[in-house]
Amino acid sequence: MSLALLAIIFLSQFSFKANDREIPILGFHGILDAKAPVIFSPEESLHYPQQDLEELLEDLVRNDYWFLTTQDLYDFFLKKVKKIPKEYLKKTPIMLSIDDGHRTIHTNLLPILYKLEKKYNKKIKIVLFINPGTFPKRKSKSLTHLGCQELREGLNHGFYDIQSHGMNHKNLTKLSSQAIVYELVQAQTKLRECTKDLDPQKKVASHFAYPYGAYNQQVKSYVSKYYLSSYLYNDKILSLACRKNLYEISRLAVSRGTSFLELIRKSEGMYQLKSEVKC
Ligand SMILES: [Zn+2]
Repeated sequence: MSLALLAIIFLSQFSFKANDREIPILGFHGILDAKAPVIFSPEESLHYPQQDLEELLEDLVRNDYWFLTTQDLYDFFLKKVKKIPKEYLKKTPIMLSIDDGHRTIHTNLLPILYKLEKKYNKKIKIVLFINPGTFPKRKSKSLTHLGCQELREGLNHGFYDIQSHGMNHKNLTKLSSQAIVYELVQAQTKLRECTKDLDPQKKVASHFAYPYGAYNQQVKSYVSKYYLSSYLYNDKILSLACRKNLYEISRLAVSRGTSFLELIRKSEGMYQLKSEVKC
């Protein structure tokens, strides 16, 4: 059984609908292509195989999932300042996020998004948490990360929701106040500079994901000065029944190989908890 199929089984256990109280937010890193080596580095273990991702996305599209942006989650579910449009009420909401802006998003994922749009006439939205400090320098030959132009292409086609992951992917709990502010403000400024003409409402870099998922009270209070909400990794499904903290939004980490099996195992526990609503 492929990983993607297992993932679908996992997700289908929760027949979330927009009115329900739990929303899975998946967190990916890079996307491996078919030629990726079987033996991999610890960093690559976080990356997800392209073919599995394609199968997963195709199934989600076929089953008419609602791909949330960070602003959708904020407006419709967290702050509830907007009413869910009728046509979305029966859909199952999910958020797909990818951290760190690896170039494989452009080379291995974007083509799938175009392909599935053509096939099903539906647009998949992917939330990208980006560190603009990793934009390739002008003369650099090592293209490991996305540049501004590539981000603009995905944004212009309506596939990307571009959000902030800090300027240089620093562990914010280890920085001085001044350095935290620099990481938060500089990332927002650079991402908005890159997308200015395509994003008149400044939706870009309004939301944040803590690098390494690391945060504390001080970090949270600085983030809340510059961003509307913030995401972490805690392997929990976001429960709307619980006290909602805009700066502690739950995500499920997805990594190469074992993670969906782990998620399935965990999901059994979580499914039972659903009626008890443990927060
Ligand atoms: Zn990261």
